[in-house]
Amino acid sequence: MLIKSDHSPAQLAADARPVLLVIIDTEEEFAWDRPFDRASTGTVSIGAQPLMHEQVFDRFGIVPTYMCDYPVVSTGPSIATLRRLMEEGRCEIGTHLHPWVSPPHTEEVNRFNSYAGNLPPELEYEKLRTITAAITDNFGRAPTAFKAGRYGLGPSTAESIAALGYTIDASVVPYSAFRDDGGPDFRAFDEHPYWFGAGGRSLLELPVTTGYTGWLRSFGPHLFELAQQPAARKLRAGGVLARSRALERIRLSPEMASDAEMRRLTSTLRADGCQVFSLTYHSPSMAVGHTPYVRSADDLSRFIATVHDYCAWFRDEFGGQFMSLTQLRDSMAAQR
Ligand SMILES: [Zn+2]
Repeated sequence: MLIKSDHSPAQLAADARPVLLVIIDTEEEFAWDRPFDRASTGTVSIGAQPLMHEQVFDRFGIVPTYMCDYPVVSTGPSIATLRRLMEEGRCEIGTHLHPWVSPPHTEEVNRFNSYAGNLPPELEYEKLRTITAAITDNFGRAPTAFKAGRYGLGPSTAESIAALGYTIDASVVPYSAFRDDGGPDFRAFDEHPYWFGAGGRSLLELPVTTGYTGWLRSFGPHLFELAQQPAARKLRAGGVLARSRALERIRLSPEMASDAEMRRLTSTLRADGCQVFSLTYHSPSMAVGHTPYVRSADDLSRFIATVHDYCAWFRDEFGGQFMSLTQLRDSMAAQR
């Protein structure tokens, strides 16, 4: 069971301008095509994060949330970089759990256990407690926002984060399932934020912004799933659907989508009443050579330009506004 029990819609005032959030998965560098490795804990790419502030965020007054995992919040230089941004009011710090590099280390490292929600609840809780304490000690503030590594929510995650004082979760990926290697199934979820109860407290869920565009979109999840079946894969059905723009699945991320694709997704979801959009990327993408998405200096320039151009469009043409996660939570709480 994932966090969908006892839920109610979370909304802004009906006439509020649409809101863009920026959520950065802030983590160690690792080889994305190799097995998970407890020894991969380098965080040199954290030093590259201020560049996005100088070139984009500061110009628009955007305050992103760095959802940080254990190597990031336990290494001096990366703490210093992010703590300075936080103290200058230029970011918020949340928690991102990669269990394979987050103590205590008692489980076997494998794909199934890379989803923390698959671990015994006591072990998942201990990892959450340890990283929460590290952030509180090293940043001087207790984190209130959580994003599971690999979106790996489990049956006890909601109660555990509620008990540790979190008030926001951002781990749900609508219309998606990660069942091939034991991950969660979010196919019953959509893009709308909601309040949910856990451990006697009320938390806000802010789903990853992803969805379908194109004239076949009302069949989106069903048709997209069919296109992933082996026979349809051979026919490259997904590619045909996307190229013809009959049905595209788009994630609001400069790693996976162009500025034009992100604008198409945003406009489509807005027409369905979506008020809140969250743009995401991984921190190692800000330094060349650490993720599949940024392999050259040209890639990095394009990556930054995509974020800049989308944010400019969101504010100036789409008529939107930017909020930090805590601003959004407070605004939505005021509407309850
Ligand atoms: Zn991650």
